Amino acid sequence: MGQAGWAPAWRQPEPKLKYDVIIIGGGGHGLATAYYLAKLHGITNVALLEKGWIGGGNSGRNTTIVRSNYFVEGNTAFYEHSLKLWEGLSHDLNYNVMFSQRGHLNLFFTPGQRDAMMRRYNIMRLNGIDGEFLDREQVQKMVPHLNYSEQSRLPILGGFLQARAGTARHDAVNWGYARAASTLGVDIIQNCEVTGFIKKAGRIVGVETSRGEVEAEKIGMAVAGSTSVLAAQAGLGPLPIESHKLQAFVSEPIKPFLDTVVVYGAGHGHFYISQSDKGGMVFGGDLDGYNSYAQRGNLPIYTDVASCAMNVMPALGRIKLLRQWAGIMDMSMDGSPFITKTNLSGFYLNAGWCYGGFKAIPGSGWCFAHTIAHDQPHEINSLLTLDRYAQGRQIDESGHGPFPKSH
Ligand SMILES: Cc1cc2nc3c(=O)[nH]c(=O)nc-3n(C[C@H](O)[C@H](O)[C@H](O)COP(=O)(O)OP(=O)(O)OC[C@H]3O[C@@H](n4cnc5c(N)ncnc54)[C@H](O)[C@@H]3O)c2cc1C
Repeated sequence: MGQAGWAPAWRQPEPKLKYDVIIIGGGGHGLATAYYLAKLHGITNVALLEKGWIGGGNSGRNTTIVRSNYFVEGNTAFYEHSLKLWEGLSHDLNYNVMFSQRGHLNLFFTPGQRDAMMRRYNIMRLNGIDGEFLDREQVQKMVPHLNYSEQSRLPILGGFLQARAGTARHDAVNWGYARAASTLGVDIIQNCEVTGFIKKAGRIVGVETSRGEVEAEKIGMAVAGSTSVLAAQAGLGPLPIESHKLQAFVSEPIKPFLDTVVVYGAGHGHFYISQSDKGGMVFGGDLDGYNSYAQRGNLPIYTDVASCAMNVMPALGRIKLLRQWAGIMDMSMDGSPFITKTNLSGFYLNAGWCYGGFKAIPGSGWCFAHTIAHDQPHEINSLLTLDRYAQGRQIDESGHGPFPKSH
């Protein structure tokens, strides 16, 4: 009768007094880490502690774009590794994460932008990552309903395509990792906020939570927008991370309109759009531009993103917005993440994902699990450390320096 008889997808255990590893944060990064700890490293005595419900943070609030078009050492291999994991993820988890390789088209409007993008894609190609240069006619053939007027404020000169990029279903990714991790023995404990850290002889040996104290040999933290607050409690920091909010917008469902991801940036606003399987147009733009922990947006960004949309897709002018929300971004000062040991023994950090951590979920969990299991990074995340600032080797993909809004 109806939707009866469904078993819960993951167990709902009470927290035990002690684990081998605690992962704080039940977003995609924490869930993937717990899964790979169990699956690849045989560490199954793991608790994942989430203060709300899993996927209630940024991992369930994003515009789901997955790509690997990075060109700075430290990012290139990492994001390509993540994309390769995406390509097998539904099979690996035995859960349809609806990964759709519909392509990611990055528009350019000036010769300067074209040169910068050409450089990026050449470096990608040299690293064995796919990328194609499209001139204006090829872009028009691929997406006929963009604004190709010569009089447009942003006249389209061409675009760069990563055909293997695309989108995935965010909830399914969280649920798929949760189910697979739970099946392997990981305790996923929701409504369990970490409120402090237990220290003995200068070492962190456990956490205080809203459901009691829990001890562990090793603790990994993947709490995105709450990173600086929680890290301070652990005695780590101050960290080169700011919390900013980023909004997403979804329109009413319309007929099939866009079968790829279209984006633009580089000094002409910032805009990215795709169409969900239900038909809604899913899009976003810049950060709100001031520090906040609110998971809602503001009117100026509304108008900013709407005008960005109208620049390239005037046909959207008459559709209605259905809903809008925000997530709290962990903006690092060079725009690149941290997957690293810290100077606190047995305490590991996963943070700094800025606008782009959804695509990183599989790769990040894979590398963070390796780092925790071996107490040292894998080669792929060996540059994503906290001390890169002190050492003067920032991984500044967009070349904007320490300006979170620009990353
Ligand atoms: C609007 C928007 C659009 C985006 N678009 C894209 C995109 O198109 N492509 C892309 O790659 N990335 C995108 N991102 C970024 C991406 O969503 C994030 O980088 C990624 O989801 C971060 O995952 P996470 O697991 O680190 O964090 P989260 O999913 O935020 O998980 C962190 C979890 O930690 C929990 N937590 C916090 N404090 C505590 C505590 N004290 N105790 C226990 N638990 C705690 C939170 O409740 C939360 O569930 C977007 C983000 C937003 C907000």
